[in-house]
Amino acid sequence: MSTPPAGDDRHVPEDRRTEEEPILSVRNLQTVFHTDRETIRAVDGIDLDIYEGETVGLVGESGSGKSVTARSIMGLVDEPGEILPGSSIKFQGEEITGYDTKQYQNLRGSGIGMVFQDPLSSLNPVFTVGNQIREALKVNRGITGEAAREEAIDLLEAVQIPDASRRLGEYPHEFSGGMRQRAVIAMMLACDPEVLICDEPTTALDVTIQAQILDLLRELQEDRGLSILFITHDMGVIADVTDRVNVMYAGEIVEKAPTEELFAAPSHPYTRGLLEAIPGQQAGQERLRTIEGDVPTPNEPATYCRFAPRCPQAFDDCEAVHPELVGVTEGETEHTAACLLYPEDMSTGEAVAYHERLGGDSSGTDESGAAGDGDVAADGGRSTGDRGRDSVDGGDGR
Ligand code: SF4
Repeated sequence: MSTPPAGDDRHVPEDRRTEEEPILSVRNLQTVFHTDRETIRAVDGIDLDIYEGETVGLVGESGSGKSVTARSIMGLVDEPGEILPGSSIKFQGEEITGYDTKQYQNLRGSGIGMVFQDPLSSLNPVFTVGNQIREALKVNRGITGEAAREEAIDLLEAVQIPDASRRLGEYPHEFSGGMRQRAVIAMMLACDPEVLICDEPTTALDVTIQAQILDLLRELQEDRGLSILFITHDMGVIADVTDRVNVMYAGEIVEKAPTEELFAAPSHPYTRGLLEAIPGQQAGQERLRTIEGDVPTPNEPATYCRFAPRCPQAFDDCEAVHPELVGVTEGETEHTAACLLYPEDMSTGEAVAYHERLGGDSSGTDESGAAGDGDVAADGGRSTGDRGRDSVDGGDGR
């Protein structure tokens, strides 16, 4: 296990990210599910990076593809699911999409751990919690006997389970919901992972226990230098625990930004809708705002904006042009949005043309989603001084 860099304040600065290799890097991930009638594009070409010691959020409504993304990374997509050729997932620089069963077992053992929403899906009801932690220690780290028992006690104490030595002998059903989730986290830590994927780990818990588990994850991350992918539908939780956020909708990432910036200046209409749906956001608000409609089930390539039927700012081009992730302002790489209203310093007509050109050469995008240094990007507005600020109209839909 690596230790956090000196002075790590949970936010990984931009300059560090350009120098370091991400510990986990996802490119053009496409995970589909084949049915008799159609192919569901559950994850449709997403890019994602996680650097050492940071917590990255993946947020969106149910059905947006968050959990399928996590299962794709963990090698847990079974038939009729398929990760399409051209998808890339690198862990510590090594491509893992072609791994066989044994390699994935090793990866899940000591490389990437996962905490699910329901702790009972990870715990075996017929073995004591101590047995299961000791087994994880034996299989993944070769620790057995009294050393394993002592390490198991240390792990239960690390996840703040009181009276740890006695509770080692208890079965999962003797633990409360919050304690069970702590026990699962202890089991994951027994594998000494570099990356922890937390898929809605607090959704089934009451607010007080939820806050305790979030505090625990924060402490574990700081103490152990963990990198965390935190998946949730809850923007309040995202604000609490993450350094950077990816907003996902209908299989695509539609906005990326450092967490503070996302909350200070949300750009994509979907992100704004999610934020407005947090209780207590509007002074004097009596009814909770919601985003009308449902997340569509994508079953065809996106040649248009999948959010258009629900978007209060939709205009005609949204039905005909697929929005690419671009800087919210021209040249911006940290804060990007997949919406035809951006870059905001272009006129809407110019922005639509820019997205059309980028869509013709998506290989010119980097993880930030902003256009790279290729021809399309150069042609698409960065180097053309006669576009942009002096021709902003800002009034047609923005
Ligand atoms: S591209 Fe159009 S429909 Fe999609 S989010 Fe932007 S304004 Fe709304």
